[in-house]
Amino acid sequence: MIRAGARLVRCGVLMAVLLLAACGEPASRTPTADDRDVGVYAERRSKLMAEIRASERGISEPVLAAVERVDRHRFVRPENVNEAYENRPLPIGEGQTISQPLIVAMMTEALGISPGDRVLEIGTGSGYQAAVLAEMGAKVYSVEIIPPLAGWSEENLRDAGYEGIEQRTDDGYFGWEDEAPFDGIIVTAAPDHVPQPLIRQLKVGGRMIVPVGPPGFYQTLWQIEQTADGVVAENLGLVRFVPLTGEMSAEDS
Ligand code: SAH
Repeated sequence: MIRAGARLVRCGVLMAVLLLAACGEPASRTPTADDRDVGVYAERRSKLMAEIRASERGISEPVLAAVERVDRHRFVRPENVNEAYENRPLPIGEGQTISQPLIVAMMTEALGISPGDRVLEIGTGSGYQAAVLAEMGAKVYSVEIIPPLAGWSEENLRDAGYEGIEQRTDDGYFGWEDEAPFDGIIVTAAPDHVPQPLIRQLKVGGRMIVPVGPPGFYQTLWQIEQTADGVVAENLGLVRFVPLTGEMSAEDS
């Protein structure tokens, strides 16, 4: 887990240096997203996994294995396939990004899910986080507010062989009432307050992972556990997400 902002900022500086180094590296071959030759990506993928392990954020073997199994090159734009296994977010169009693999791993770990759990994701984006959750054995429900991204992620998930992920185009602030309650809820865009409809859709014993804060710089990642006596929140540190858009401020605070 991230313990302090300073550490994250140092990490950010390191990432920027790595990014500069990566940009200067010529690719010997340009793979395509349809490339079934996983060997093209194998070396990059193991380098990424080594980086995630080296981060020492307490990510368990099942989560590492789930992240490793997902072909991230199937969830980026064709122009970004060469960077698919870099440990950083990438643009996916519509001003949105596919999350950094390390953050996906940390959030998946913090959810603490077991096979068969029902998990709601808010912000399908590329479908990458949904695929990692499916690899964990979860029954995944995912809501995306931008129709072209909802369509694209559906294609990505289908082409990558993930069946049984339920998707919906809507404002995820309000969750997915008809399918509630959930064992886990993961919010991959940042609201400026915790959406109360999502709290209500969490089972007792269930967890929500949500970045909360104003748009712009860093937000605080919260792990919120539903208990019989109300919610218990733990601060997991600073992260950077695109804002949650939509109705947000209606009916609660
Ligand atoms: N989980 C994604 C990351 C997507 S970035 C992935 O693995 O690729 C955040 C996504 O949240 C964007 O696609 C954005 O359109 C979406 N989003 C923003 N506000 C939303 C809302 N109110 N309801 C549902 N999705 C929302």
